[in-house]
Amino acid sequence: MASKVRLYVEHPLGEGQSVPLSREQAHYLFGVMRLAAGDVVSLINSVDGEWDAEVVEAGKKGGVLVCSAQTAPLQMPPDLWLLFAPIRKERTAFIVEKAVEMGAARIMPVQSAYTQSANRIRMDKLQAHAVEAAEQCGGTYVPPVDDLAKLERVLAEWPAGRHLMFCDEGMAGRSAALPSVLAAPCAILIGPEGGFSPAEREMLQTATFAHAVSLGPRILRADTAAVAALTLWQQAFGDWQ
Ligand code: SAH
Repeated sequence: MASKVRLYVEHPLGEGQSVPLSREQAHYLFGVMRLAAGDVVSLINSVDGEWDAEVVEAGKKGGVLVCSAQTAPLQMPPDLWLLFAPIRKERTAFIVEKAVEMGAARIMPVQSAYTQSANRIRMDKLQAHAVEAAEQCGGTYVPPVDDLAKLERVLAEWPAGRHLMFCDEGMAGRSAALPSVLAAPCAILIGPEGGFSPAEREMLQTATFAHAVSLGPRILRADTAAVAALTLWQQAFGDWQ
């Protein structure tokens, strides 16, 4: 049997709860996936876990589902943020998708000195990529994707108590063991293809919350570096243990 279609909705889920569908959702379920009244889908909303819901009304422009039973509780990822400098469009979408699959709680695109012209990046689509990734990977939580913010500003307003795993290409070749201070709450920082500027590196080296780490002997592309850093952190401190 094919696995159930999973759908993220911005609506409370609970026993007997009816959930109205937007035009896009109706198009997806009934036009693309060819579902009809009586079929059952899986719903998530980042709050109530995963629920089975039956199609009770299926139309071209809308529809209604009714929740029957919870099939999984809400599982929050560990308190880990991913900060990254957006790169070319497909690779930025890739980073967002992988961050959701790997288990990041918040995704923060940051503009650094060597970030490619940010206005060519479709920031509005990034949250939709996070939703799709959560639907596809069995997640019950969709991490928020923040609007693009200047790295300098984000560092200046850094919250007390959270450490920053500064992935520093200048550390390439050193041991990739993570210091225990990087346990949650934590944030990972990945630079753009051009790396960090000398001023940024200096700012990061003097910030008490930032800890420079190596991702092995080779220089990774930013998208690879994001996945590698998330893997290292999850393995050391996260929910993979
Ligand atoms: N142009 C730069 C490389 C940038 S790679 C240079 O040639 O030096 C993009 C980002 O990936 C870096 O800013 C860093 O955050 C991360 N990264 C890539 N390889 C790394 C490594 N071996 N150790 C730590 N961080 C790495």
